[in-house]
Amino acid sequence: MKLNVKMLRYLSAEDFRVLTAVEMGSKNHEVVPLPIIVQIANLRHGGVQKCIAELARRDLVAKVINTKYEGYRLTYGGYDYLALKTLSKRGSVVSVGNQIGVGKESDIYVVADAEGNQRVLKIHRLGRTSFRTVKNNRDYMQGRKSASWLYMSRLSAIKEMAFMKVLKEHQFPVPTPVDQNRHCVVMELVDAFPLRQIREVGKPGRLYSELMNMIVRLAQYGLIHGDFNEFNILIKEPGIPILIDFPQMVSTSHANAEYYFNRDVECIRLYFRRRFHYESALYPRFTTDTNREFNLDVQVAASGFNPKQQKVLEEYLDEHGRGDQQSDDDVSNDTDSESESDDTDLSDSENEGNSGSEEKAEENVEANTSTNASVLST
Ligand code: ADP
Ligand code: MG
Repeated sequence: MKLNVKMLRYLSAEDFRVLTAVEMGSKNHEVVPLPIIVQIANLRHGGVQKCIAELARRDLVAKVINTKYEGYRLTYGGYDYLALKTLSKRGSVVSVGNQIGVGKESDIYVVADAEGNQRVLKIHRLGRTSFRTVKNNRDYMQGRKSASWLYMSRLSAIKEMAFMKVLKEHQFPVPTPVDQNRHCVVMELVDAFPLRQIREVGKPGRLYSELMNMIVRLAQYGLIHGDFNEFNILIKEPGIPILIDFPQMVSTSHANAEYYFNRDVECIRLYFRRRFHYESALYPRFTTDTNREFNLDVQVAASGFNPKQQKVLEEYLDEHGRGDQQSDDDVSNDTDSESESDDTDLSDSENEGNSGSEEKAEENVEANTSTNASVLST
């Protein structure tokens, strides 16, 4: 799903209150019954009906009629709205530029912060495919009856932020983490292309060793990337690899750690063989090369991704497979023309200092849809 900039247009304070009520109700209800929305929103003069109709018209909520009752659920559009509003209030995202990536479970945009710095916004979208199997797993929500994609996407973002922070603190080459809210992560924009788009590297042997060393060093810290492939390694001039994409990372204590470790190693070996015709007899083995010296997996828990959240997301990932973005066979015939971020008008914010009450201004996340870059006013 694309980020719908139109939805960022003005919402009245009451509409926003009702949208928030639907989000709160979603914690316990997959489809939030209207009376509960009315109760949570607690509007002074009623009027929830009108607001909810307006939100539905803008695809921020969806009306659902199930067997038992009629209610509403938050859509991705609504969840995006709430997250962007928070991020814009904090000044970490004030405008949204071009989309630079569409993953199976994420959308990536170039954005700008309040100081005009370009950043990357990664919107996690778990369950874009199907949640049916997950919902059938009774353990999975641990008493919660609903939330599925909403909850899992948020956990995925929390996890990505926590890992990026800890990796950065330990001098791993990863983007600098900036902010996180709900299912969104804001990070440094790395000026680089994925390895997948690099046709030639000067010294494949050197890059190969660097990547293998990174895998080993991660394991020494108790971690396995779990999706260590040519899409998740950005190559910065002059050939420096930057690792991205952390929601599927796994501890070396995981029951299938060896499998994931070997898969990461194999992925690089295979890619180098096919793309660069480079093969080395040297490659790390889980059993001999991964003496754990640090416990970053434990530190991650301390940095905002708690054990219960880990467990819930683990169950999801174990069931859905982690790191599915396997390299395909066709590495020679590839596009290298993927869009560069040419988001020109990011700083062109005409709506700064919006008149009206502060409260109203706060509720107002405005998008300028006439250009590529939409400006959110806070
Ligand atoms: P997914 O989980 O969907 O694979 P990724 O985090 O791997 O998401 O990002 C998808 C693509 O977006 C990457 O392959 C890369 O091209 C681009 N991208 C992601 N993060 C950044 C970043 N910080 N800087 C530059 N490009 C990025
Ligand atoms: Mg990726």
